[in-house]
Amino acid sequence: METPENEKFRDSIATVTEEGKRAWIFPKKPSGKFYTYRKYVSYFLLTVLLVSPFIKINGNQLMLFNVLERRFNILGYPFWPQDFYIFVIMMIIAVVFIIFFTAAFGRIFCGWICPQTIFMEMVFRRVEYWIDGDRGAQIRLDKQPWNAEKIRKRVLKWVIFFLISFIIANVFLAYLIGSDRLLRYIGEGPMEHMSTLFSLLVFTGVFYFIFAWFREQVCIIACPYGRLQGVLLDNKSIVVAYDHKRGEKEKGRAKFRKNEDREASGKGDCIDCFQCVHVCPTGIDIRNGTQLECINCTACMDACDSIMEAVNLPKGLIRYASEENIEKKAKFEFTPRLKGYTAVLIILVGVLVGLLFLRSDVEANILRLPGQLYEHKDNNMISNVFTYKLLNKTTMERRDIHFKLKSPKGEIHTVKQGEIIVPAQGLAEGTLFIEINASALSGDKNKVVIEVYSGDQLIETTRATFLGPRSFK
Ligand code: SF4
Ligand code: SF4
Repeated sequence: METPENEKFRDSIATVTEEGKRAWIFPKKPSGKFYTYRKYVSYFLLTVLLVSPFIKINGNQLMLFNVLERRFNILGYPFWPQDFYIFVIMMIIAVVFIIFFTAAFGRIFCGWICPQTIFMEMVFRRVEYWIDGDRGAQIRLDKQPWNAEKIRKRVLKWVIFFLISFIIANVFLAYLIGSDRLLRYIGEGPMEHMSTLFSLLVFTGVFYFIFAWFREQVCIIACPYGRLQGVLLDNKSIVVAYDHKRGEKEKGRAKFRKNEDREASGKGDCIDCFQCVHVCPTGIDIRNGTQLECINCTACMDACDSIMEAVNLPKGLIRYASEENIEKKAKFEFTPRLKGYTAVLIILVGVLVGLLFLRSDVEANILRLPGQLYEHKDNNMISNVFTYKLLNKTTMERRDIHFKLKSPKGEIHTVKQGEIIVPAQGLAEGTLFIEINASALSGDKNKVVIEVYSGDQLIETTRATFLGPRSFK
């Protein structure tokens, strides 16, 4: 079936020519109210992103994603492999939150928060405007032969891009291996840590490739979140939208003529100036409707508002609006779908809070020694041998560790002589005996509750299975 004329724009993407080659986008430098707000948001987020690995709370790095050693810190809260279920729930909450937000407010995350957009539009693109100039100058420079000016500008830009990529790669590494280790490696010199240096250069190369060449194609082609828009958005979602009713009216869009009575002429408010297209970093024409490529960056809103101001027409021809709002002037509605997402979010957050509350700083694992039964001792005492593993998830050493049998009544003897210490973020292992009078046992398998103390402080309560004779009579 042939694509209708007004849908033909969906058959191609702006970054690829008809011959299948890369079509370079030269977006006009944005300016205006929303761009100013986005700059402030991005300064804040860039600061957070760059300093987070270097801030510590109670000795824990604020944000750490050490995949290799399976250690994660979120907001200074350490997660060990044993806490992975909490980490997974947090990730699910983040995904549901983004889905909820997308259903309500479209791809707002992409335009305002996504690190790809922030680095691309607020760092690399601004360096480009500074060196190459605005859209017109960039197009001219691109077409120009390799003369002294072009070589100087290109080399300067590529060197600066490489240096920024190198800084980003270092910060990225600080998230992965920890800032302490990174700073130590830097202090000891890169030659001492060739494999880390190699990783650093690979990351630098990847970031350089993305921001110097691949650019908006990350959002258009590679990003899985972008691909989800089709199922997440509906006609009630608020997105960056062109008010086609107002822009086209009965006679469609038309160029602006001085002193004309546009209202009486039946022409739409869109003066077909293409400023919204020229400013778009993904090269689309928002007047064609909501498109997969639109990252909701608001650059076209600013561009159109300044044109509307210049021709004395009301602003907001391109604005945050839902399809229903444009078609029927409908107000934002908290739809059953959004209510459903909210309910799921509330449940998940409740589960997370409960799990965080139950999570202990020191985790104890006490297991019966495999292959061992029980020993019947004097005075009708039954003895089982156990191994214990204590994992300290904090940055504080735990001293004077001892065990108490909470139920049933009995005694615990550790094999280790002297003080048991669990090092900060470390492990203590050993063997202990539990002795219980046979009369306190109720069968061959008995649940025992063991308390772990550090000095006078109860730090963990755990359970184990204690074996006894099948019958005592
Ligand atoms: S900037 Fe506004 S007036 Fe100009 S083409 Fe785009 S929608 Fe029309
Ligand atoms: S259409 Fe507008 S909001 Fe969407 S990416 Fe282009 S400039 Fe940004």
